[in-house]
Amino acid sequence: TTTESQSRSSRAPQGLPTHIQHYIGGQLVDSLSGETIDVIDPVTNRPYATAAAGRAEDVDRAVAAATEAFVHGPWPRLKPRERARILNRIADGVAARDSRLAELETFDTGLPITQALGQAHRAAENFRFFADLIVAQADDTYKVPGAQVNYVNRKPVGVAGLITPWNTPFMLESWKLAPALASGCTVVLKPAEFTPLSASLWAEIFREAGLPDGVFNLVNGIGEEAGDALVKHPDVPLISFTGESGTGKTIFRNCAEHLKGMSMELGGKSPAIVFADADLDAAIDSTLFGVFSLNGERCTAGSRILVERSIYDEFVTRYAERAKNIVVGDPQDPATEVGALVHPEHYDKVASYVEIGKTEGRLLAGGGRPAHLPEGNYIAPTVFADVDRDARIFQEEIFGPVVAIAPFDTDEEALELANGVRYGLAAYVWTGDLLRAHTFAQSVEAGMVWLNSHNVRDLRTPFGGVKASGLGHEGGYRSIDFYTAQQAVHITL
Ligand code: NAD
Repeated sequence: TTTESQSRSSRAPQGLPTHIQHYIGGQLVDSLSGETIDVIDPVTNRPYATAAAGRAEDVDRAVAAATEAFVHGPWPRLKPRERARILNRIADGVAARDSRLAELETFDTGLPITQALGQAHRAAENFRFFADLIVAQADDTYKVPGAQVNYVNRKPVGVAGLITPWNTPFMLESWKLAPALASGCTVVLKPAEFTPLSASLWAEIFREAGLPDGVFNLVNGIGEEAGDALVKHPDVPLISFTGESGTGKTIFRNCAEHLKGMSMELGGKSPAIVFADADLDAAIDSTLFGVFSLNGERCTAGSRILVERSIYDEFVTRYAERAKNIVVGDPQDPATEVGALVHPEHYDKVASYVEIGKTEGRLLAGGGRPAHLPEGNYIAPTVFADVDRDARIFQEEIFGPVVAIAPFDTDEEALELANGVRYGLAAYVWTGDLLRAHTFAQSVEAGMVWLNSHNVRDLRTPFGGVKASGLGHEGGYRSIDFYTAQQAVHITL
């Protein structure tokens, strides 16, 4: 109850649930085993609720409900415009709850409240975007005059398994739910176990919007149980996964057994390359935002900054000064720029990389817990300069507010450094020379490149990585392609 939640922590949002259930076939239900997991908030690290801990038998129930809705329900058979109307109502429902969503997300994840609000708006936009897209969808038709007609019959694949991480959980769920539902699939969502709170709002949003029961199902629980059961379920032909590259490998192997369709959005160690002819003010603003927004818990974080030697000293001095002035504190305070990391386990991981960094680079800002925040998962924005290309903090994804800076002398060396990691998600290039920018984009191993910019993205463009950062692309019609099968029909005239 509200009173109980208030006594747990004076910071708790009003009406915080004490227990988070699964949502299967239109019903809120607990695990058959009755088991639960504790959910903690990252400022006090105290449990504030329990979540149903799903296992294979709960996933079975969810997949059965989704299969029933797919085989006998109206959803896959609705006209695209009819589905789009419901998707737009879902977007309205998300938008109407934007401040509630931000409040819950911030409480559960530790993301700064202003940034969590932005993510709620993106979630609404994702539904509007895929509503528009599905109505405008055109498929190929080919005619050989007098001889044959060939056309494409597009069909939803079936029950889609959606597995999502804890960074910006609600927004990332929407990025999978919207295209899956637009395509006519039914779904089972397994949100991250660290952050199940915001996902608990989907059920009422979908119900209000008129989504038929069984189309959306949610099973909470840990990855190795609920997630694993979803991946291995024979009646789930598709898995869309966002998370760590290591988990991606395991899921890839487990999908092989059933030759499932897979979309894998994985980790990153993205470079920002700053040439001497760049607009330095803009490059500093952007590279600070790139790694310190969303607490650095961002797949596309520009966590390595490569700077041309002639401006290197000026860049690192100015950058470190700015990093020291970033406001770290209570995620619910609108002035906060870096909040609390999601979970003590993740805090320990990031803190251990900060210690490793002290042996691998020159510490210029941060370096651990800020003095004014003795509790909670807080790490000060941490800047290491002169980091060698073989250093662990240059090679490994830290997923926190920690950046490694290194100098380069030539374009070739910049490219070598940029490409010298196993990841290939994003790259950011800062230069006044457009030819150089486009040439660099051509050679850099990254699924997405931002030239003299960041964070702007038309949702029609491909989103995804190369190398260890992923497999397949989402975004625009690529998402629809993933959730649909394209049958070719041929007629001889
Ligand atoms: P994670 O891989 O630990 O977990 C992601 C999800 O997978 C969770 O729901 C988890 O329960 C589930 N899972 C874990 N083991 C599983 C298994 N064996 N079978 C099935 N499901 C399993 O990732 P995380 O720590 O939650 O998220 C952070 C990672 O996500 C970072 O590496 C980050 O770069 C990546 N990420 C990538 C993108 C992208 O679009 N490329 C976006 C956001 C986050």
